[in-house]
Amino acid sequence: MLTVILPDESRQQFEKPVTPFEVATGIGPGLAKAAVLGEVDGRPVDLHAPLPREGEVRLRLLTKQDAETLAVMRHSCAHVMAQAVMRLFEGVQLAFGPTTASGFYYDFALPRPLSEEDFPAIEAEMRKIVKADERFERLEVPRGEALKLCQELGQEFKVEHIQTGLADEETLSFYRQGEFIDLCRGKHIPSTGHIGKAFKLLSVAGAYWKGDASRQQLQRLYATAFFDKNQLSTHLERLEEAKRRDHRVLGKQLELFTISQLVGSGLILWLPKGAIIRQTLEEYIKDELRRRGYEAVYTPNIGRVELYEISGHFPYYSDSQFPPIEFKDGERYLLKPMNCPHHIIIYQSKPRSYRDLPVRLAEFGTVYRYEQSGELSGMTRVRGFTQDDAHIFCTEEQVADEFRGCLEMTQTVLSSLGMNDYRVRLGFRDPQGDKYVGGRDVWDRAEAALLEVCQTMDLPDMTIERGEAAFYGPKADFVVTDCIGREWQLGTVQLDYNLPSAERFGLEYIGADNHPHRPVMIHRAPLGSMERFVGVLIEHFAGAFPLWLAPEQVRVLTVSEKSEAYGREVERRLAAAGLRTSGDYRGVKLSPKVRDAQVELIPYMFVVGEKDRDGGTVTVRDRIEGDLGPMPVDAAITKLRAEIDAKTVRQVAPRRPAPLADGESEHEY
Ligand SMILES: [Zn+2]
Ligand SMILES: [Zn+2]
Repeated sequence: MLTVILPDESRQQFEKPVTPFEVATGIGPGLAKAAVLGEVDGRPVDLHAPLPREGEVRLRLLTKQDAETLAVMRHSCAHVMAQAVMRLFEGVQLAFGPTTASGFYYDFALPRPLSEEDFPAIEAEMRKIVKADERFERLEVPRGEALKLCQELGQEFKVEHIQTGLADEETLSFYRQGEFIDLCRGKHIPSTGHIGKAFKLLSVAGAYWKGDASRQQLQRLYATAFFDKNQLSTHLERLEEAKRRDHRVLGKQLELFTISQLVGSGLILWLPKGAIIRQTLEEYIKDELRRRGYEAVYTPNIGRVELYEISGHFPYYSDSQFPPIEFKDGERYLLKPMNCPHHIIIYQSKPRSYRDLPVRLAEFGTVYRYEQSGELSGMTRVRGFTQDDAHIFCTEEQVADEFRGCLEMTQTVLSSLGMNDYRVRLGFRDPQGDKYVGGRDVWDRAEAALLEVCQTMDLPDMTIERGEAAFYGPKADFVVTDCIGREWQLGTVQLDYNLPSAERFGLEYIGADNHPHRPVMIHRAPLGSMERFVGVLIEHFAGAFPLWLAPEQVRVLTVSEKSEAYGREVERRLAAAGLRTSGDYRGVKLSPKVRDAQVELIPYMFVVGEKDRDGGTVTVRDRIEGDLGPMPVDAAITKLRAEIDAKTVRQVAPRRPAPLADGESEHEY
């Protein structure tokens, strides 16, 4: 006999085999119709999967109102998309079809390249399948039979996957709807009808089988689905907005950065305007570091493999590193994947006493990681990047204050850029994981210390995520939500009892008791990496940077040649006041000059005509508010200087520049 406990603690007993769907039916036909998934003792199950025959289970019946069901519906929609594609094309080879954070995709090998023109036909076929309300039927078969079935279906990727990725599984499952059958772990919604109408194909891109560039190239068809039509249209609007502010497009348009295939994929070339933004941010961070008692150091971009063997970066992470550079005499070097080992050696360069601690070593250190080419994306996924890195070496008693200081600095930096919407994710180790260095007691101590500090601070939406730790210790990551709702992991603060340990570098300081003690290390980078951070900033501001960061802060525009000499004088005064400026003295009308400055998203324009020349004024045009009228030159410069010095963020990502007002008659133009 089975006892089912429902969320309201009521109990039902069943002598015969029963499914969650049948339990729902017993409660009421409305629930049976609305339910799309079951949850048994906290684990999702198919609605038609039999419950255990004996014992006691807690059962929840989930409807589309429950957040957990959306991904299951989307994955089911991926099966429907694959079915539609197979109806429309001959000889389709199926690879994988997982969900993503906001939708799903399926990888196919197809006889010809897909394009957006194919989408309506695929969507129409999908609608037919949804309308037919085909049941998703689960089949469990022994591996021999599963292999035979995939061979009969001619699905070579699935055959390979059973033989390799699923080599240890005794029983495998398939899901079938209508004529379509696919090797799949599940779970699925009960039938295609539950998908509804709110789905859409989005794009097609190249992908490799198992992400391996030496294997067959596939076509990845991206799509999304929602239970609700309004949610779909909101999502599509956001995607449009994301496209509009895509840093790869804006970076080119505004001449911020470029990537050259000749230099190499994933390697960023900062153009002069982008370099100004980076430099300004670096100077800001350097000021903060000086105020907070950090010392600057510089270290080389490579190091001997032995160094990373001690740190554990090699071989733990060798698949995400560039292969070693090997010399004739057998000496091997790595492009540095992290700055920590170098900073540790600096710490060790002289004996340290408790009076020296904390030692805080900071460096904008460039590191290299090998990302698969399919993973690379503009500035946000790269192969070489510069971290605003620092390592703090402190006593165990100093850990809480130091860790708190790092979190506070990250908060200060993010809020100074108008990034106030973030959550803090504590990354702890996965107790079952094996990629960690250090003993259990050390990890427990580090996690407890970190949690204690974080609990005393005002950290929004703090969550603990197991398995998200660095290999040497737990960490706190700042996950920023941008103005269109996407999450970016930026700043990070990591606690480390392992690299200082005897098994690694054996760091020491002499305590007040004259005995050697072990320091604790903190790794921290408030921005994360300059490349990724600036990439995110470009999108955050949609290219319209606040005055203090803007590559060109103010442009002088002349109304006619008569005011050119005066314009050049204004430009000189601006430059002398430390403003980044240029002048547009072309012999054209004012309006195209204004338009160009707007397209380039320049925060201020100083328009100069003859009246301005005679009165010693400039007519100020603000990117956000439009025309502010004439102002004495000094007053205008003071106004801008104040905005720069305060690092004011007046606006995050305006939808478009302030419109050109018509008929401005009070001035000569
Ligand atoms: Zn599936
Ligand atoms: Zn580090």
